[in-house]
Order: sequence, then C-alpha cells, then structure tokens
Amino acid sequence: MDIIRLPVLSDNYVFILVNTEEKTAAVVDPAVAQPVIDYLNQAGVELTTIFNTHHHFDHVGGNEELINAFPDVCVYGGAEDNGRIPGQRVFLKEGDKVEFAGRKAEVFFVPGHTRAHIAYYFPPTEGDDIGELFCGDTLFAGGCGRLFEGTPAQMVNSLTKLRSLPDNTRVWCAHEYTLKNLQFAVTVDSGNQDLQTRFTDVKEARSRWQPTVPSLLGLEKVTNPFLRWDTSALQIAMNSKEAATVFGRLRGRKDVF
Ligand code: ZN
Ligand code: FE
Repeated sequence: MDIIRLPVLSDNYVFILVNTEEKTAAVVDPAVAQPVIDYLNQAGVELTTIFNTHHHFDHVGGNEELINAFPDVCVYGGAEDNGRIPGQRVFLKEGDKVEFAGRKAEVFFVPGHTRAHIAYYFPPTEGDDIGELFCGDTLFAGGCGRLFEGTPAQMVNSLTKLRSLPDNTRVWCAHEYTLKNLQFAVTVDSGNQDLQTRFTDVKEARSRWQPTVPSLLGLEKVTNPFLRWDTSALQIAMNSKEAATVFGRLRGRKDVF
C-alpha cells in the first residue's frame, strides 16, 4: 500500500492509499475532489473507497464529486456522524475493522473535536514494522484539534487511545499546523529538550516549505504537550494534577495563542 500526500486548500492534507497490485485507491478525507481525480487518472487507478474521519467541510468537501466520478465508491465514516457525511454508506464504531489493499485497519472512536470523530489505524504488516494512523483533526503533529463538540475529559480519553499505539506509527494528520503548534508548545514545556530540538527541525523544514506530516507517534509522545497531561512539567505549568483539568487549561491557552 502506497500512501500519497496531497496538499490542498490553505493547509489541508488529503491522503490517497494505493493498492498497486489491483490498481485501486482509497482516499482519506477528500477536502476537494479535483486534485484527487487528477492523481487517480494520471496513476491509472480506480477509486473504491472514501475513509472520512469526521463531517467538517474541509474533510468531506470532495465526497459528492468523487461519488459522481466513481459511482461504486464506498464511503466510510463514524456511526455518530449519521447524516453529516455526504454519501456515507458504512457507519463505523470503536473496534470495527475496515480492509484496504489486503490490510485491516482498526477503527477508534475519538470524540472531542467533533462528537462523532473516528480514526483509522493500520497496524504494521509482517516484514514492515511501521503502522499508519489516519487521525483527522484529533491528533496533530505537535498539537490536537479544537474541542468543538466535546469536553476535555472526552479528548483525554480519545488521545489516550491513540497514545497507546506503538512509537513506530506514522501520524497522518489532516493539517500542516506543526510550526504554529510547536511555537505554542515551547511556551508551556520549555525545559523539554526533545521539544526544543523538534522545534528547531520544524522551523528549518518549514523555511524550505517541506511538509512535516506524517510525524512519528514516538516523537509525539515526548514532544506534543497534548499527549503529556500526566508529566510533571505540564502539571506544574497548568497548576493541576488532574488529567482533564491539565488538558482543558492547555487547550484553552492554545485557543487564544
Ligand atoms: Zn475538523
Ligand atoms: Fe480540519
């Protein structure tokens, strides 16, 4: 399974998963359709699947046009998003499995950014020790999504699920927000040397317009403040030891950063 990253709109990423043997493709969160159609035509592959993480327009905006272009395409999304994702045919819950290119992805229910948000995790295959996580707007490189339809406690619960995946998991998040996220992160976790190093690397990468997605979950665990509510540095900075309180204060500060 090849993974193609298409930058679209101002800062979104659309991911195309290609089954090179069968010449079929799945797309994750097609914000827009045309760049996806152009890629598929040029690569000579047929779209069979749309994997949506949540209903926001910058994630499902291309669904209808893609369904028109590929009428047999099957649209997957969260069960709770019933009615909010154009063309949705499969309604997924925590623990469901979806298949593409001979690989099985596990579905995680990760409410917080929206009340219906899901993530797709492809565990490593034999002979390849890297997993793939498509987490939409739940976990970002160096940050997390805003709480539009959920509480800090829900988001802590959701991020706990993602945080428990192996370090060797590529985090395919839906936006290039990393630099801004790390500019904030260093204000709340300044003594974190891994974070400072990452900040330097990301500034350098973005000065050359290089993408910072995917990132590695192992790096997120040690540098992303939104996965670190249980470290003493963040607890001291947020003046609480209670996970949802630490997280909620952190999120509140980022909202106005
Ligand atoms: Zn969103
Ligand atoms: Fe988004």
